[in-house]
Amino acid sequence: MRKINLFIGGEYRSPSTERYFQVINPATKDIVAEVAEANEQDVELAVQNALHAFTNTEWAHDRQLRFDVLNRLSSLLRANLDELTELESVITGRPIREMKAQLLRLPEWYEYFASVLKTMENSSPPFSGSYVNYTQRLPLGVVGLITPWNHPLLILTKKLAPALAGGNAVVIKPSENAPVTPSILGDLAKQAGVPNGILNIVQGFGTVAGKALSTHPALEKIDVTGGTETGRHIASAAGFNLAKVAAELGGKASVLILPDANMEEAVNGSAFAAFIATGQTCVQGSRIFVHESQYEVFVEKLVEKTKSLTIGDPSSLETDIGPVISERQYRRILDYIQIGIEEGATVACGGEPFEGNGFFIQPTIFTNVRNDMRVAQEEIFGPVTCIIKYTSIEELVKQANGTDMGLAMSVWSNNIRLAHQVVNQLEAGIVWINDHHRIDPSSPWGGFKSSGIGLENSIQCFNDYTKLRNVIVNISTEPFDWFDGSQQVKRYS
Ligand code: NDP
Repeated sequence: MRKINLFIGGEYRSPSTERYFQVINPATKDIVAEVAEANEQDVELAVQNALHAFTNTEWAHDRQLRFDVLNRLSSLLRANLDELTELESVITGRPIREMKAQLLRLPEWYEYFASVLKTMENSSPPFSGSYVNYTQRLPLGVVGLITPWNHPLLILTKKLAPALAGGNAVVIKPSENAPVTPSILGDLAKQAGVPNGILNIVQGFGTVAGKALSTHPALEKIDVTGGTETGRHIASAAGFNLAKVAAELGGKASVLILPDANMEEAVNGSAFAAFIATGQTCVQGSRIFVHESQYEVFVEKLVEKTKSLTIGDPSSLETDIGPVISERQYRRILDYIQIGIEEGATVACGGEPFEGNGFFIQPTIFTNVRNDMRVAQEEIFGPVTCIIKYTSIEELVKQANGTDMGLAMSVWSNNIRLAHQVVNQLEAGIVWINDHHRIDPSSPWGGFKSSGIGLENSIQCFNDYTKLRNVIVNISTEPFDWFDGSQQVKRYS
């Protein structure tokens, strides 16, 4: 059993509450860690340390230092990937094969944002008159990062790498369900040379530590990934404090199988979209649209594929589906399955818990689903997907867009023209053609509609972790005196 402390000012410390909460392995319900529970006082200490380090170290001013540190952090992550992967699989219940694939890519984020920092150029916008005019890109100051449990290190990394590259000091509040691997980042960052106080971690509960952080008036930006309601609370607080905000929120991703799609690829792609991470991803393919001409065959094949998935021990390389994260999620997902049945949808496979001590639920497919049913509209965040029939492309687009969410969608087709015509009509921030879930540090990630505001990844995200100063230099040799009594209109060009 691990004991996890807060990380403030470059060292691990016990919380002022002296209280620790337990984190369990969702596959076995064994307690795996006791984690410090931060309160308002601990958050205050972390923010003060961050402010002090931001003002009193070279971090904010020294690009080369940050470039070197980010690259060292990337190497340290690579050297520690095996331990982090095993641990994250135990804490989240994610199958080890998935976890390896995900964490192997983490170092890329630090390398990418180090390169952006190194190659970034400031602009010199055109300016009328005898002036030299240029911009400076500056760090924001102290930023708060609030993260969920489903991809603990990946989502934190997507925020942390650009925040550090931008020269900011950070205070991190990881999820109460999965705070263990984020905590290890404190040590790795210190080894990499991040100055004490530039990176702080306060574990605890959203309603206490999360709230204290997101409402703190010293923060220049708050970046959250979580549910849409959480995002609204945090964005309201940021609005009050006139802090920047980025919010990556809930999803209800549509998978659009066009009539010409290759059936095998569409089935395999849909299973991947729906059931990777046991369906606990914001871009889960939870609404699969299939043309009426292919509907019966598609349902039969997707059910067959789903029944072939191996449910069980996340540490086994053979496992495809692990448990869901917690008892709360387990009950919520089973409730949604009941809601779907009561709404008149048909359980084509799954629909039940799976044997074992942990929070296992069989991957579940609903057919006979109407787009207005709750199971087709609300984020379930578990291994449950709906197959919905369509008759025309026009109807398909209308149904796919027919949700409050707008995070991601995938289109499956070999008809390049039709696929792009469809993509151009979709209301989603991320669209894949013949793929799903694929991500890259250089490629913008963010939702439309109620799925959030702001972006992760890409140069735009780096820019969002900075602020611009405009420097306007008058190089004219003309005498400067507006009040020279000449009555001339000056400064007109
Ligand atoms: P939550 O919204 O419950 O929590 C997210 C984080 O916010 C946690 O650290 C949580 O703390 C904290 N928090 C909760 N309430 C508050 C509050 N009032 N003030 C400040 N902080 C608060 O999300 P989950 O952890 O359950 O994650 C699942 C959600 O995340 C899904 O809706 C999913 O779609 C979304 N998500 C979005 C992604 C995207 O890229 N758009 C990617 C991945 C997930 P605590 O853990 O203690 O509750």
